[in-house]
Formats: sequence, C-alpha cells, structure tokens
Amino acid sequence: MKKILVTGGAGFIGSHLCERLLSEGNEVICLDNYFTGEKSNIVHLLDNPYFELIRHDITMPFFIEVDEIYNLACPASPIHYQYNAIKTVKTSVMGAINMLGLAKRIKAKILQASTSEVYGDPKIHPQKETYWGHVNPIGKRSCYDEGKRCAETLFMDYHHQNNVRIKIIRIFNTYGPRMHPNDGRVVSNFIVQALQNKNITIYGDGNQTRSFQYVDDLLNGMISTMKTGDDFNGPVNIGNPNEFTILELAEKILKKTQSKSKIEFLPLPSDDPIQRQPDISLAKKKLNWEPKIELDEGLDKTIEYFKNKLSL
Ligand code: NAD
Ligand code: UDP
Repeated sequence: MKKILVTGGAGFIGSHLCERLLSEGNEVICLDNYFTGEKSNIVHLLDNPYFELIRHDITMPFFIEVDEIYNLACPASPIHYQYNAIKTVKTSVMGAINMLGLAKRIKAKILQASTSEVYGDPKIHPQKETYWGHVNPIGKRSCYDEGKRCAETLFMDYHHQNNVRIKIIRIFNTYGPRMHPNDGRVVSNFIVQALQNKNITIYGDGNQTRSFQYVDDLLNGMISTMKTGDDFNGPVNIGNPNEFTILELAEKILKKTQSKSKIEFLPLPSDDPIQRQPDISLAKKKLNWEPKIELDEGLDKTIEYFKNKLSL
C-alpha cells in the first residue's frame, strides 16, 4: 500500500483522483484550502479509514511522510484564478517550492498538474511538448500561465540539481461531474445555462476551438505518468485531440438538454486563445495512453450529474 498526498484534492479533478487512488488500494491524504474546492466533493470518502483530509494552504510549508505527491492545488478557472492574481502566482510558485522541498526531503516522487496554458495563444497547431509557447507575461491570464510555467521550471531544476523524481503533465481542457456550477468554465457554464433555460453565453464569435477531455481519461493518463520509470519526467500532453468550436459545443449541449435557451454573444476576454489541440504522440509512445471517452458520451454523463446537482 502506497501513501499518496494529493494537493487540491477537494477540487474537481483532485476529488476524482483521491477516489481512484483509494480504489486502487492506496492510502490517500487530501490537502486543500477550499478556495475553489468543496468538502462535498470528498465527503463520501471520509468514512474510508485509508483517507485523510487536511485543511492547508500550500503556500505554507507542510511536512508529512508519503511515497508520492500529486500537486494539483491551484484554481483552474479563469474567473477564479484572476480573482486574486497574486495569490494564484503564489500558489503555483511557492506551492511548487514547498511541495518540491518536501519531495526532496522525504524522497517522494512528485507529479505536477501543469496545463496547456503554458502554450499561451499558440502559433503551432496542434501543440507538441517541444513548442515553447506564445504567452503574454503581463496580461489577465499571466498569473496562471506564467505561474504554471515557473512551476515547470522549478520541477526541472529540483530534478537536475537535487535528483528529485519528478513528472510533469500538461492537461488540456478537462470536464466532468463535480465541476463547480459557478466554475465559469465553458462546459459547466453551458450545461447549467441550458438546463435552466438561461441564455448560453458565447464569448466572441464562437469560432475559437478547444479539445475537451473527460476526467476519467485524464486520471488514466495522470496515474500512468506517475508509474513511468525514472528515465521519463515529461512534460507530456494529456488531452483529447478531438477539436470543437465553442459554437459547436453550445449547439451540442442545447440539443442534448432539449433546452429553450438562446445563444447570446458577449465580448471575448483578453488573451483568449484562438485554437487549442494537443499532439498526444508522446503520451501514446511513453504511456501507451490515449483518451477513450468522446465528447458525446462525456457530455451525457456530465449533464446527468448537473441535472441531479441542480435537482432538475
Ligand atoms: P479546481 O479549482 O476544481 O481544483 C483546485 C483545487 O485546489 C481546489 O480544491 C482548491 O480549493 C485547491 N487550492 C487552490 N489553491 C490552493 C492553495 N493555495 N492551497 C491548497 N489548496 C488550494 O480545479 P481543477 O479543474 O480540479 O484543476 C486541478 C489542477 O489541474 C489545477 O492545478 C489546474 O491548474 C490543473 N488543470 C486543470 C485543467 C482543467 O481543464 N480542469 C486544465 C489544465 C490544468
Ligand atoms: N467561453 C464561452 N462562454 C462561457 C465560458 C467560456 O464562450 O460561458 C469560452 C472562452 O472564452 C474560451 C473557451 O470557451 O474561448 C474555453 O473557456 P474555459 O474558461 O472553459 O477554458 P480556457 O479558456 O482556459 O481554455
């Protein structure tokens, strides 16, 4: 039985990860400051004697003995990470330093939940791990993008300088049950709006694209990356390469929910990337991984979740 620390474990992805790691026979310690996560995401795990929940902010040092660390703590939705931009940078950078320091001290393996945002508004399409990105260092998204880029730098430097066993995954847009209804990200926004027959808010003309990955596929990629040998550190893209325009997504959700909502076009936020699609050849080669759940199936499961959550 491995002892595993999950930072950000009460969030959307973290709560699914805690559940999966427990079901695979591990002991899990979930650490969260509840900025965007909720106890309700993990309350069903509290009776499990191999699950422990700790309220802690990773910008402060933390000491524990574990075998592995999954570092997920960081708000992921643009409205939440822009709410307190300085705190977002602190969480990514000071949080990485604290968790890497811990990994170094206790000789644990540590995985960083990085993001496709490190590619910014990409000039190369689809994005390969070798692409350095096109990121605005002083814009509204910079606290998140540059914070995550600096965290990647720290992970590599702790590896090269101190032999810390690291893994970096770059997660592309992920959706599924337990996204917060007010999370602000596109899949949850559109589903909640459609189920409530409120206007569907498309930012810009809706021709910008994203590649949407269902959370179960991400977990498989994340855990497979953690299991790789010490000769592989990443970064590795984990995402679904099927690309859709935001308008196509809205139309799919409207049809599936049989909603009476109308589409409303609002201004595009600054630095909103035009295109986003992962090249996953490295993940296929190194992890023997590829996503299995296509958008239609994943949306059905997510719509079902929100129907229950909103008691519709
Ligand atoms: P989320 O907001 O649901 O989860 C983040 C969790 O981290 C929350 O529970 C929050 O309370 C916690 N947290 C935030 N700051 C903290 C701090 N200082 N100390 C302790 N806990 C803190 O978001 P998510 O979608 O589950 O994202 C999880 C991770 O995956 C994040 O690091 C995010 O950057 C990364 N990621 C997510 C996506 C996506 O599409 N969901 C894409 C790329 C990367
Ligand atoms: N978006 C939208 N309406 C919404 C929320 C988001 O049109 O209600 C757009 C947003 O401008 C972006 C895309 O959907 O172009 C994905 O946004 P999200 O915040 O989900 O993720 P990210 O921009 O970080 O990929």
